[in-house]
Amino acid sequence: MPATSPSAATTLIRNAAWVIAWDGSNGGHVYRRDVDVAFAGDRIVHVGPAFAGEADRIIDGRDTMVMPGLIDSHTHPTTEPFFKGIREEHGVSRMGNSGLYERSIAFRPDLEGRHAAMEVAYAEMLQSGVTSVVDLSSPFDDWPEIAAKSGIRAFLAPTYRSAEWRMEPDFSLHFDWNEEVGRRGFERAVSLVDSLPSHPSGRLSGVFCPAQIETCTRDIFADSIAAAKERGVPITTHIAQSTNELKEVAERYGTTPLGFADEIGLLGPNCLLAHAIFLDHHSIVGGDGARDIARLAETGTSVAHCPTPVARYGHQFEYFGRYARAGVNLAIGTDVSPHNLLEEMRTALIMARVAARDMTAVTTPEVFTAATVGGARAMLRDDLGKIDVGAKADIVLVDLQDPAMMPARDPLRSLIYTAAERAVRDVFVDGHQVVADRKVLTLDRLAAAHRLAEAQARMIDAVPSRDFLGRSADEITPLSLPLA
Ligand SMILES: [Zn+2]
Repeated sequence: MPATSPSAATTLIRNAAWVIAWDGSNGGHVYRRDVDVAFAGDRIVHVGPAFAGEADRIIDGRDTMVMPGLIDSHTHPTTEPFFKGIREEHGVSRMGNSGLYERSIAFRPDLEGRHAAMEVAYAEMLQSGVTSVVDLSSPFDDWPEIAAKSGIRAFLAPTYRSAEWRMEPDFSLHFDWNEEVGRRGFERAVSLVDSLPSHPSGRLSGVFCPAQIETCTRDIFADSIAAAKERGVPITTHIAQSTNELKEVAERYGTTPLGFADEIGLLGPNCLLAHAIFLDHHSIVGGDGARDIARLAETGTSVAHCPTPVARYGHQFEYFGRYARAGVNLAIGTDVSPHNLLEEMRTALIMARVAARDMTAVTTPEVFTAATVGGARAMLRDDLGKIDVGAKADIVLVDLQDPAMMPARDPLRSLIYTAAERAVRDVFVDGHQVVADRKVLTLDRLAAAHRLAEAQARMIDAVPSRDFLGRSADEITPLSLPLA
């Protein structure tokens, strides 16, 4: 671990050319020019002209844009990095193009590789300006320690479920129920969620995560909802992510996934739903309209929008502005590799306009808000995602001299639409520097990437023994070019 500044030290970013600051009176982000930003320990203490206090460290801000650290609200860092080169063009046409079920049955990352994947993904997030992550993983012993070592602020969501997916040779999807496994997973989650707030890093907290709306029993949902409420912590799950899930929920419960979530009392201000794509207004669903979106807005439920995985299957969220303007709190997640939230924001902006066939379907500040205070609200935090006095010192310094940023007439647009992580120079979490001059100080990304590559090879070797048709990885998902 590199040395970081003592926790009470004061850092002054002097004369920042641009600051994306929080305007409390209007409740939104604004640009400010040529101001100082100072933080002491883990909190921002000054945003404005001429900081008068003493500073232990002074950073010249003249070539810099200061912005709040981003919040990646839906990720699977311990598994998704395994699927680079595997999942980008993998889908099953007979399953509405979703490759989720076939892939997760045939490709199983091992524990050693999951450590490496997590380090790769966390490094990637830090280097793209993410300072908080919602990490949905099947828990293992070292999970909190790796999160703490990375320096990121982690909302750890240990997943559990009562049913495993199984496929039959006709490509039909089935559910193997084991309530005891689901119960043990829930109990393990309770003890983990209870232990995290006292972790010495001070940056870990827990989220309840019954994994998918269709893989957990009513009992497990009821206990998870009660446990989250009792502790005042968030709850998250995957919902309305595929047409297979819609069919299953309709057959089992006679309603839509959102209708079921409403019925069991899942929805509410502490609930963050991942995806929520195939609601009753979606063109593929062909439902009766706006009931599901209204359910989200009325209950104060948040949605973690992850545009890339669904777009790779040829589908889309319909659409960002429709949810946002109905009053739904939106957050942004990466869900798959790359864990590059800046690129995901760009994709969210473009996909919303394509889905709506309307350029005004979303604005850059709406997506930036989702990736900052939207994610913070979903995690029940009002001290994250903004540059404001009293907020946590989770801060990103963007290099305005990077050629990809220039001309920086509108630096937020330069960052999202062009430069992305190339211009992310320095990152602070809780006042501690975790990225300096584009290099992650806390993790060895290259060494982890080597370990991940070895683990991916092991996973690929085991595919024929796991696949429901005994196929190889190359048969399930061929290389993009033929091997001569
Ligand atoms: Zn997911």
